Amino acid sequence: HNSIGRRQDTRSREAFERAKKVLPGGVNSPVRAFKSVGLTPVYMERGEGSRVYDIDGNSYIDYVGSWGPLIMGHAHPEVIEAIKRTAEKGTSFGAPTELETLMAELVCERVPSVDIVRMVNSGTEATMSALRLARGYTKRSMILKFEGSYHGHADSLLIKAGSGVATLGLPDSPGVPEGVASQTITVPYNDLASVKVAFEKFGEQIACIIVEPVAGNMGVVPPLPGFLQGLRDITEQYGSLLIFDEVMTGFRVHYQCAQGLFGIIPDLTCFGKVIGGGLPVGAYGGKRHIMEMIAPSGPIYQAGTLSGNPLAMAAGYTTLKLMTPERYELLERQAVRLQRGFEQNAAKHGIATTINRVGSMVCPFFTDKVVINFDTAKTSDMERFKAYFAAMLELGVSIAPSQFEGMFVSGVHSDDDIDATIAAHDTAFSRL
Ligand code: PMP
Repeated sequence: HNSIGRRQDTRSREAFERAKKVLPGGVNSPVRAFKSVGLTPVYMERGEGSRVYDIDGNSYIDYVGSWGPLIMGHAHPEVIEAIKRTAEKGTSFGAPTELETLMAELVCERVPSVDIVRMVNSGTEATMSALRLARGYTKRSMILKFEGSYHGHADSLLIKAGSGVATLGLPDSPGVPEGVASQTITVPYNDLASVKVAFEKFGEQIACIIVEPVAGNMGVVPPLPGFLQGLRDITEQYGSLLIFDEVMTGFRVHYQCAQGLFGIIPDLTCFGKVIGGGLPVGAYGGKRHIMEMIAPSGPIYQAGTLSGNPLAMAAGYTTLKLMTPERYELLERQAVRLQRGFEQNAAKHGIATTINRVGSMVCPFFTDKVVINFDTAKTSDMERFKAYFAAMLELGVSIAPSQFEGMFVSGVHSDDDIDATIAAHDTAFSRL
């Protein structure tokens, strides 16, 4: 392990300076730049199991997992083997392959609400396409989303968004036309009363509610009892669709995704992250009569040169096959151990901490408030988070450089990894 103040970063600094000349902000996705934590981003060289290794030779126990996808850790031998075997036969055809059907069969079998599914290339594409479908199907244009939720960067969804948008304090992005923004209603997460008010006013115009069934882009915020059922009821009452954005929770929190965990059947579901096993993939699926409105079976257009890409299908399928119900129980046990260890450390050091957890998604907030929505998430002490993040990095633990992201425990975090992480957390807290 690295001890505090010993971590080398000369090469990462050089790499970042060079990148800034040719990439906006030096990166291809904003939060990677470590701007909000005031540090130089760590350039990774390789990953293996629960660990990542940077270009300066430091190693870290990793809880970022590429921001969620790597539920079986880095470079899992079976996943890598599947990618290699597939690549040897060609990387893309633009023609159907049997792997796509295999993948779709698996998704339809596991996810309660999904009769039929379309593969795309990112979570953003999945939510953007599901929105178009919901609007086309209902012939309505308004949508309702929740403050602090992130659903990718489609125009309609970049209103009061979470994740990097929140981390960087950019609530409503320039470039989103006013006419588009005016069609998006936002209300606080877990607030059914506000949803009802919105529907009383605009109900006949609302195409859909899009919701993260566990909010994962304002930290981790579980749905309060009755919240998701309330959304199901009100959308049914008004003829709107209920879209679960399971890009983060899908195949993460439960064998059957969040909808299986909570027993709620949405009309449409969006996937990403885990479903691609670390390659660029998204998907959206749902009830057959709605999904068949998509071209070529219906008139609503959506397409993709690389959609259903063989390498992506191979990585995703192999990953999902590794994720047995028993594996989810194991992940949850490790996550519970992590949570308990963190809670004990917080009590020992007298630092106000609220830890939210659903399955293997864990998020410690620096607040004594119960965190149920974006406003309460924002009560977390961001200066403390910054110091904590920097200390954990020095101690060889990689977490997302944002208070508004959780930690992802993987199926390959060992008991030793968890113990070492709790010990690092103890040391970090002793220095806050
Ligand atoms: N929806 C949710 C819930 C997400 O967490 C994310 C990404 N963090 C997205 C959509 C967008 O996915 P992508 O980054 O693959 O476009």
